[in-house]
Amino acid sequence: MQDRQLFQQILGIASPWSVERVELALQDGQVRVFLQHAADATWYCAECDRTCAIHDHQPERVWRHLDTCQYRTVLHASLPRTDCPEHGVKVVRVPWAEPHSRFTVLFERLVIEWLHEASQSAVAERMGLSWDEVHGIMDRAVKRGLACRQADPIVYLGVDEKSFRKGHRYATIVNDLDQGRVLYVAKDRKQTSLDGFWDTITPEQKQSIEAVAMDMCEAYENSVRKHLPDGQQKIVFDKFHVAKHLGEAVDRVRRAENKLLRAQDDDRLVGTKHDWLRNPENFAIGQWREFTALRDSKLKTARAWALKEDGMALWEYRYEGAARNHFKWWYRWATHSRLKPIIQAAKTLASHLPNILTYLKHRITNATSESINSKIQWIKYTARGFRNFNNFATAIYFHCGGLELAPSPTK
Ligand SMILES: [Zn+2]
Repeated sequence: MQDRQLFQQILGIASPWSVERVELALQDGQVRVFLQHAADATWYCAECDRTCAIHDHQPERVWRHLDTCQYRTVLHASLPRTDCPEHGVKVVRVPWAEPHSRFTVLFERLVIEWLHEASQSAVAERMGLSWDEVHGIMDRAVKRGLACRQADPIVYLGVDEKSFRKGHRYATIVNDLDQGRVLYVAKDRKQTSLDGFWDTITPEQKQSIEAVAMDMCEAYENSVRKHLPDGQQKIVFDKFHVAKHLGEAVDRVRRAENKLLRAQDDDRLVGTKHDWLRNPENFAIGQWREFTALRDSKLKTARAWALKEDGMALWEYRYEGAARNHFKWWYRWATHSRLKPIIQAAKTLASHLPNILTYLKHRITNATSESINSKIQWIKYTARGFRNFNNFATAIYFHCGGLELAPSPTK
């Protein structure tokens, strides 16, 4: 078998294309495969598939392909341009690469597979690509995936904010909580950030949404109210966001009290910050015992902590009536606690109560998609800060979008 035929078969090059010649450039470590097409081939407009006459040929282009025995392998071809009565002069589509790509379909597939296993910079280094080239492959993969995404019903949405860079740059992330995939990523955490999402789904998908988990955030609330039928009833404030809110109140009490105690040489509260914020279920037995003396003390911080824990018991209820009664009792206790941060937090909860109680019906939180959260952490960690928002968004869609990313050969 001649090298021409060998490469023709390996590359899967079919009529009207064939391998014209193969050059081995040893000094460059390259195999160069030159492609040609039959003179009498029929060509089609890349837009409408209409049979068209050749207008001219583009200058020779190159595509990087999978290596051949460690030799970098590059395809060379000069592509015809057709003249379509409707679309004018267009470059024909080729079976080995997508339009505008400088890589073959198989090469892009390999890069995409590696990107699931390693960071962008590690893949770039191993494959001898620049960071921008890898990003270009990811970007095309995401655009392709978004373009062919199916309009499946979405029952539960989660709207979350994530910082993507030091200096408080935020992104709004919309998740499909059932399927554990990211549907939408937008800049900032404003109403307009979420407003952009609704046009990316079909009216049927919008109808299918039963509830939306989110932080107590007016901007997101307004967007849901404006775009979703019966939006107000579908908002579920995220349990962990409320817990964080109460935790911050406890910490403010602790900081103030610690200052007073230390002035009297009492350092009982020193170094205890995280004990008060930790979920009791996450204590080791020994630690929990140690913490008992503090919990049972007459300290204000202990009282604030007990209020936080009893407040969070709201999420254990099954029936709304019982939950309301619990809240009423708790709210009275909290607002009479003489602990200012707790009183403030209690008032915030009271004004958001209707959409805290919607949890009892839908039982969703933004932690429902833990796998998304941990993947986003990994993305942030491996990228060590994103230069801009678009890079961050592409990486999230790529890793968390549940998209069909691989290119398929075109005809
Ligand atoms: Zn056309």
